[in-house]
Amino acid sequence: MEEISIDVFGLTKRYGSLMAVDSVSFRVGTGVFGLLGPNGAGKSTIVLMLTTLLKPTKGTAFVCGYSIINEPVKVRECISYVPQELAVDDKLTGRENVLLYARLYGVSSPKDKVDEVLALVDLRDRADSLVSAYSGGMKRRLELAQALVHEPRVLFFDEPTVGLDVASRSRIWERLRGLAHDGVTVFITTHNMEEADEFCDKVAIIDHGAIKVIDTPSNLKSGISRSVVIVRITNPDTFIPDAYDHLEGIRLLGSRGQDICFLADSGEEAIPLLSEQLRRNGIRVSSFSVNQPTMNDVFLKSIDAAEGEWTGADSKRFKRLVRRRK
Ligand code: ADP
Repeated sequence: MEEISIDVFGLTKRYGSLMAVDSVSFRVGTGVFGLLGPNGAGKSTIVLMLTTLLKPTKGTAFVCGYSIINEPVKVRECISYVPQELAVDDKLTGRENVLLYARLYGVSSPKDKVDEVLALVDLRDRADSLVSAYSGGMKRRLELAQALVHEPRVLFFDEPTVGLDVASRSRIWERLRGLAHDGVTVFITTHNMEEADEFCDKVAIIDHGAIKVIDTPSNLKSGISRSVVIVRITNPDTFIPDAYDHLEGIRLLGSRGQDICFLADSGEEAIPLLSEQLRRNGIRVSSFSVNQPTMNDVFLKSIDAAEGEWTGADSKRFKRLVRRRK
């Protein structure tokens, strides 16, 4: 049976007439859990309540088995929280920053522990440099080291890689995946769909304070039936857009040069139908490609902004897809 680290029951936060978090309930086991949502969706409010920094209006949650309402001190002992704003002192060295945290938490043998966590985040070589000389990625890793000194069982991390370059992002993710592998529950908030897809074991998408979907990235993606089918043709001059209007479950998104892009309820079923219709219209096909749904599609489908028809954003995506094939 999966071990549950966070168990949330009807958690609610109201600010005056604004319902910031509207009775959310969910469970988080070990691994990396991602909370996704547009700005203002309620992500930070949920994290603040789970980390006992904000009192819920209603509902409760248990973190590592302790109630955030009745046992906040116990909860704090077993968690760490890395907020988005930098929480390191530029005037101290990396080692001094982490040592400060180790002493605050009353860690036994703090110097050894500091060495250990600095090594874990690849900062041992630069431990005695002033943090003012660190890059953004090094500062983020230093914050992670601070968060790990007291061996938390649950690590909350707001937007772990925002503003970092590709190499720094992958270093942070390597560490977070490593922690998850060692049994730590890593709870992140993120806007980055590709990272959520690649690194999270489970994601929840929230909007207007409510959870819209919660599952593994692959289950969420397979729940989206629509695919983008791109057909490359050799005689684009003879292509007549209206000739595909009647095909069931298929809609023309646009054409560009030799590439014609369709939106299909099922990519697999669309190919024979399109093939036949294109052939009838004298169009010669050199290739078909089906783009599987991404986490971005899941996200857009889950939040209110994306309800209804495909719009400008999708035509941009179409152009991007076509460009990628050139
Ligand atoms: P997110 O982290 O997803 O961007 P937040 O949890 O920060 O969203 O905010 C959720 C909603 O609650 C937003 O509408 C925000 O304006 C509102 N909110 C957040 N904090 C406060 C506060 N201290 N007072 C009043 N409204 C707030």
